Amino acid sequence: MQEKFQKIKEKFIEAKVVVVLTGAGISAESGVPTFRDAMSGLWEKFNPQELATPQAFRRNPELVWKWYKYRRDLIQKVKPNPGHYAIATLEKLSKDFLLVTQNVDGLHKEAGNKKLVEIHGNITRYRCFNNCIFMDNPKSELPIRCEKCGDWIRPDVVWFGENLPEDALDKSFKYINNCNIFFSIGTSGVVQPAASFPLMAKEKGAFLVEINLEPTLISAYTDISIYGKSGVILSELIKQL
Ligand code: NAD
Repeated sequence: MQEKFQKIKEKFIEAKVVVVLTGAGISAESGVPTFRDAMSGLWEKFNPQELATPQAFRRNPELVWKWYKYRRDLIQKVKPNPGHYAIATLEKLSKDFLLVTQNVDGLHKEAGNKKLVEIHGNITRYRCFNNCIFMDNPKSELPIRCEKCGDWIRPDVVWFGENLPEDALDKSFKYINNCNIFFSIGTSGVVQPAASFPLMAKEKGAFLVEINLEPTLISAYTDISIYGKSGVILSELIKQL
């Protein structure tokens, strides 16, 4: 382990541009379930891929609204964990830096990251399907309609089958194509297009580091993989940088 930290330190010191990609795993130690863990209890008979789509919302607005309200209520009770704070420190220690997060929970911002793109949106923001109205945290227990066009108000997140926000994607590509070191943290490497980002960086010559509980689809391409809890590993790494 010590040798791995030492190698990362060497590459980090040389690096002009640092990119971090995070997924649901970074928030697991805060108590936010990953998709694999989320479908317990009340939700165990549902598949996220069948709830997190525009078609699912239109088919059963009440069900999808409740699922999002349940996740939002849960997220509002949790706090960033040492992994989030370590990434905020990494930003401060880097010459140039971008955090690309797939998470919608807002915990990276709360931990202090400023140079970040939320490529899948944010669960506390809502908008009308036609973008007439934007709002934060609607209190209603039931789905509501837009006062202007009458269509549904929906979470401002990117659902399966939807495009990512163009500006967030452009910024991500700019950094991924120029970075010298790329950290892939707590992501299973299954959801596209983010799953391709580590390989894109590697193809452009970046040193690729993965931190995850277990091997993923990305592991075959990394220069260094460290398996364990991201909060524990990142805290140790930061101490050594
Ligand atoms: P995923 O659920 O597919 O994978 C999570 C990964 O994190 C797994 O590889 C798992 O091994 C790893 N992991 C779990 N606990 C960990 C820990 N303590 N330390 C390090 N790694 C850990 O998540 P994904 O790759 O982000 O893709 C799923 C989609 O789900 C994304 O679009 C994301 O937006 C969404 N999602 C977001 C949240 C959130 O905002 N917190 C939560 C659930 C799902």
